[in-house]
Amino acid sequence: VAAPPKLVTKRSEEIFKEAQELLPGGVNSPVRAFRSVGGGPIVFDRVKGAYCWDVDGNKYIDYVGSWGPAICGHGNDEVNNALKAQIDKGTSFGAPCELENVLAKMVIDRVPSVEMVRFVSSGTEACLSVLRLMRAYTGREKVLKFTGCYHGHADSFLVKAGSGVITLGLPDSPGVPKSTAAATLTATYNNLDSVRELFAANKGEIAGVILEPVVGNSGFIVPTKEFLQGLREICTAEGAVLCFDEVMTGFRIAKGCAQEHFGITPDLTTMGKVIGGGMPVGAYGGKKEIMKMVAPAGPMYQAGTLSGNPMAMTAGIKTLEILGRPGAYEHLEKVTKRLIDGIMAAAKEHSHEITGGNISGMFGFFFCKGPVTCFEDALAADTAKFARFHRGMLEEGVYLAPSQFEAGFTSLAHSEADVDATIAAARRVFARI
Ligand code: PMP
Repeated sequence: VAAPPKLVTKRSEEIFKEAQELLPGGVNSPVRAFRSVGGGPIVFDRVKGAYCWDVDGNKYIDYVGSWGPAICGHGNDEVNNALKAQIDKGTSFGAPCELENVLAKMVIDRVPSVEMVRFVSSGTEACLSVLRLMRAYTGREKVLKFTGCYHGHADSFLVKAGSGVITLGLPDSPGVPKSTAAATLTATYNNLDSVRELFAANKGEIAGVILEPVVGNSGFIVPTKEFLQGLREICTAEGAVLCFDEVMTGFRIAKGCAQEHFGITPDLTTMGKVIGGGMPVGAYGGKKEIMKMVAPAGPMYQAGTLSGNPMAMTAGIKTLEILGRPGAYEHLEKVTKRLIDGIMAAAKEHSHEITGGNISGMFGFFFCKGPVTCFEDALAADTAKFARFHRGMLEEGVYLAPSQFEAGFTSLAHSEADVDATIAAARRVFARI
């Protein structure tokens, strides 16, 4: 077995050491700190296409893509040029601009359930706004979510919330009022009985159901079509609102998001990441009848100084335009399937248990036998092995999400050659871990 290549990260270590005195945990978002894989984070210098470079000059093939937004490849020239042109016209108006209509029309045109949309500045903001809207619309207070699904860090959603919360071993967060947490009910993903039981026990009290239509925040977990169909039927029968949180899946797994891919139409949808093309954007939308409750059309208050700002709209418009071209989603599916099939085959060659998959440019794998159909199954994964694999891949020049409980992302800039180099690296790492 060949020795690992030597990875020098001296500058990263120096910068992170200083950051720990300046920022809580040295970061501005927890998973970036590499707590679950160890070794300290790689500090980025620049990104382009499928690659990122750290401050020590190391180059990596990147499968995080800024956690999803970089679907056209980092620093896509068309997106960059559009942003450069917009800078000269102004970066923030705090007033209506036509770009908001352009992006709204693109979203409404593509996403089956969306007839009207409100832009905000992050996925968290989209989800907390939609929660208020579900409550306002139904006059009910309880909300049903699934264990291991993450919907941003609003109080009501920090209950069995997956991702960073699992990685850090914080099942809930201090600071969340008990009364708020009590209004959040949690069911098991892909398990309709667990949903029916909660509806039966809370008759007429559940405002809505929110879920990741493909889970990315406890690793990559796909729903069965029956599960999504069943949720649609239960919500309709119970007078509850069905919300797909498409912050991660939106415009990534299909042109019309997960709802188009599975052919299930929710009442409300949250979006983020891709529609901002690398700028801070979130959005929520749905049926006009519900969206007309939002101020100033209706009484449900929600606002934002930077909402719909022209830089964010510009990046989103260009990104969706590029994704609308023929072959975009075919490319994502082709390279990503090749990647995940190759990684799984390489693991098996070296007798490592692995299960995984992809839909379009979203993928994931767990170091366990599988199948993984919910968060509870995902806990069987060997996280210590994942940490060794992650470090080994960094040494080989491949940047993966630093947690077993995160999905991976490819982009239009990832080539078959990048994927093949990644698989070859994985084969060498599997031989030595
Ligand atoms: N919902 C989902 C499904 C997400 O994956 C995320 C972020 N990873 C969020 C909401 C929150 O988005 P943001 O980090 O932009 O606040």
